[in-house]
Amino acid sequence: MDTFNRQALLLGEEGQQILSGLTGVIVGSGGISSIAAIELAHCGIGRLILVDSDVMEESNRPRIIGSRPSDVNNMVAKVEVVRRYINDSMPECDVQAYQRDIEDTSIREEIIGADFIVVGTDNATSRAYVNEICHRYYVPVLDLGVEFVAPDGQIHNDVGKINLMLPGTPCLWCTGHISGELLAAEALPRDEARKRAEEGYFRDVHIRQPSMMPFNGEIASRGVQLLILLFTGLVDVDVELFEQRSFLGINGRKPIQLVRKRYINDCPFCSPLGSVLGAGDGTPYIIASKL
Ligand SMILES: [Zn+2]
Repeated sequence: MDTFNRQALLLGEEGQQILSGLTGVIVGSGGISSIAAIELAHCGIGRLILVDSDVMEESNRPRIIGSRPSDVNNMVAKVEVVRRYINDSMPECDVQAYQRDIEDTSIREEIIGADFIVVGTDNATSRAYVNEICHRYYVPVLDLGVEFVAPDGQIHNDVGKINLMLPGTPCLWCTGHISGELLAAEALPRDEARKRAEEGYFRDVHIRQPSMMPFNGEIASRGVQLLILLFTGLVDVDVELFEQRSFLGINGRKPIQLVRKRYINDCPFCSPLGSVLGAGDGTPYIIASKL
């Protein structure tokens, strides 16, 4: 087969073989996750499990490759759009699509059996759940995010993040990549969350922030590079660092920063002692799952 011979020149036949044996879970099928899924399929990853409960909306089309105007009218699930694209373009990749939340216990077995999980949602609940799964079951997680903060039409912050987290290394709570404020807001009914936001308790989680494909694409592509380097062993990946990008240089930030991860003392998720590290399903979950 000549399909991947240009890649094998970089990774070796053995490296390419490793990719074909991998199963990855992709949490979210929006702007960042969909690009990561498509790139992984094009690289020859053997199996992908796509998880996202959302259906296509008109404003998603500029950021989801392969989406069609008719998908919006037909309320096609985002996972189906990505699956359709991969099935057409890279049928070598076996794709499973679940239109569900990642916390749904019916898919937990699939998730914990995977070789890696990519999380690219802007949702704190799914990120917190995946963080716990990583450390309980020893599943590596690639956390990707792009955030432009522009509440009043002015851009106050722009940050992209690529964080490859191995079990037992500082978790997403320790690196500040899960917002407790957002998690609390997401646990409330929509009306209640909006009311609290108006009262100034926390920001309104339903306000849409800016998002564009070229920024999402940079983060997704770098994340996929790190996964390939990690699994093929082409070069060492320093998982003690995460990468941060600034696209616009807001607040004087450099375009690329490498940030050293640190444990928060006695973290219940990742600390070597007294955490859920390696606990499997032997102890109660800290982040609630959905039945
Ligand atoms: Zn931690």
